[in-house]
Amino acid sequence: MKNIAAFLLLFTLCTSAQTLYTPYDVQKAYKNGTRTSEGIPGSKYWQNHASYTMYVSLTPPDAQLQGQSQITYFNNSPDTLKEIVFRLYPNMYKLGAERDFSLSAEDLHPGVDFSSFKVRGKEQLTDENTSFRQSGTVLTVKLEEHLPPASSVNFEIAWNYPLPSKSNVRMGRYDSTSWFVAYWYPQIAVYDDVSGWDKIPYTGQKEYYNDFNDYTVTIDLPESFCAWATGELQNATDIMPDALLEKFTSAHTSETVINLITKEEGEKGYKMKGREGRVQWNFTAMNVPDFAFALSDHYLWDAVSVVVDSSTMRRALVNAAYKSTSKDYYEVADFSRTVISYFSHTLPGVPYPYPVMTVYNGQGGMEFPMMCNNGSTSRGGAFSLAAHEIAHTYFPFYMGINEKRYAWMDEGWAVMLPMDLVLEHFPDIDLRNRNAKGFNTVAGTEFEIPLYIPSQQTSGSAYRTHAYTRPGMAYYILRDALGKDNFDKALREYMKRWRGKHPLPNDFFYSFNNYLKEDISWFWNPWFFESGYAELFLKSAVQKKNDLTIIVEREGNLPVPVKLLITLEDGSTISKYETAAVWKTGLKEKKYTFKVSGKVESVLLGDVIIPDKVAENNFIKLSSAKK
Ligand SMILES: [Zn+2]
Repeated sequence: MKNIAAFLLLFTLCTSAQTLYTPYDVQKAYKNGTRTSEGIPGSKYWQNHASYTMYVSLTPPDAQLQGQSQITYFNNSPDTLKEIVFRLYPNMYKLGAERDFSLSAEDLHPGVDFSSFKVRGKEQLTDENTSFRQSGTVLTVKLEEHLPPASSVNFEIAWNYPLPSKSNVRMGRYDSTSWFVAYWYPQIAVYDDVSGWDKIPYTGQKEYYNDFNDYTVTIDLPESFCAWATGELQNATDIMPDALLEKFTSAHTSETVINLITKEEGEKGYKMKGREGRVQWNFTAMNVPDFAFALSDHYLWDAVSVVVDSSTMRRALVNAAYKSTSKDYYEVADFSRTVISYFSHTLPGVPYPYPVMTVYNGQGGMEFPMMCNNGSTSRGGAFSLAAHEIAHTYFPFYMGINEKRYAWMDEGWAVMLPMDLVLEHFPDIDLRNRNAKGFNTVAGTEFEIPLYIPSQQTSGSAYRTHAYTRPGMAYYILRDALGKDNFDKALREYMKRWRGKHPLPNDFFYSFNNYLKEDISWFWNPWFFESGYAELFLKSAVQKKNDLTIIVEREGNLPVPVKLLITLEDGSTISKYETAAVWKTGLKEKKYTFKVSGKVESVLLGDVIIPDKVAENNFIKLSSAKK
């Protein structure tokens, strides 16, 4: 027993050793007990929370959005807060605001206009306005009476601003009367245990970092409109005409796609059960990181349901809302159902956490909790785009990732999680190949930046490599190296530990190390902390009688798999594959020997799905085949 205890102690010390660079502020969190070097949230972990009750109205084609918000903000931190930081995302469209790209002049406006801003019932909009400090999308409100730990403060805000019509960044107008509305309401920023208030402004490129909040939202629209939103519709029976209501109800349990609004119905126009020509759509969503909504008076609407949890048989409703002219969207509800089922049962193998998902036919591809704003594309493109955006349900939403600093902690997963799924359904779309190519282009240039450097310091192609291609390949190669089963269990454990929290990079690395009882620094360091590229080199291939000796050199620092294809003169082939774990001990080259039964014609190293900076040094021709 004693020996076992000593062994366990030694073991614990070994696995909890901080083998990776850990910033001082993260070490402080370990000391404060909010986080641990085992990758488990600390006993004193906390995060703040808000509850939003909002009423918003829009009367298309007029773009003016009118809103009223009641917010209660709970301070669960051990600190007394002297100020509350708000985000005014629409101020990215403010004249003169800092932006990552140019916007159409006609979409620019003077910023969010407040007609009332009350703190604890007291109006703040005085001439001096000394409690406000506005800088771009960041509004800091000084509290006259500070907010101690374990207490709350409430705000009542009335606001308005015009939605954009031309420059649609993640949201906007997609035809004269169809809008996707996101990044849209005065929102309280995150105050966390490591960095305090998040004051990184929204300038267009950097996306999410949100707390988990409760939303009750009323969307007031003309009765000729439909609304789709984050959360569950609370008043379908009051507002939907009987025929639509019947189909909407059946879709919740239907295994096949139901056309809730057909092409003919869309063209004819809708009529909801309104009062004085208006309809109020009520949605609620609890414990989610954001709320988005969309509307149209002529989009088609398909819906289907999918079992997301086989232990409880819980289902989710999957909607597609789209233009009749969009060729790919007729299959999007069905594609999304396949995608959600795969994520729930296979990889990551975590039940889709929400009751609904709506894929809206807007532009580009952008994720929101329970919603995607996706453009029209090809058939395979629609599948792969839905898979990417729906994958974001897990990262950053389920996991509360700070994407502004660590975009690779969510985009990388949205790249990697659908790789096998997309290939299975569309064999001509190999995301591994695409990402390996994309990564090779930037890897080894000055624009390739170590992943540990915060995303907000990067832009352009450097950002794409940093957020998408490099981490996407890293996760895929690591899964191969650790074994799918081990990797998937470690991933689910990390997700279980940090669900609904805010994991940092070290929490992710140490959670994997701790769960697998293995120090994976040999992979974490080169792929996540260092600069560098993938480059294997076929140094030599020599045949002596029946013995073939091949030497593969690791010239780049990134561990990647070794794939060899030996072709003999008689046309037969021998192949050899080893995962990136072959480089685990720091080897710089590896010798392979093969017994061959005839003359070897050539040796080829690598594969299109394995990143490799220089392809030209991967082939050796030993002899010419007699034809
Ligand atoms: Zn993404």
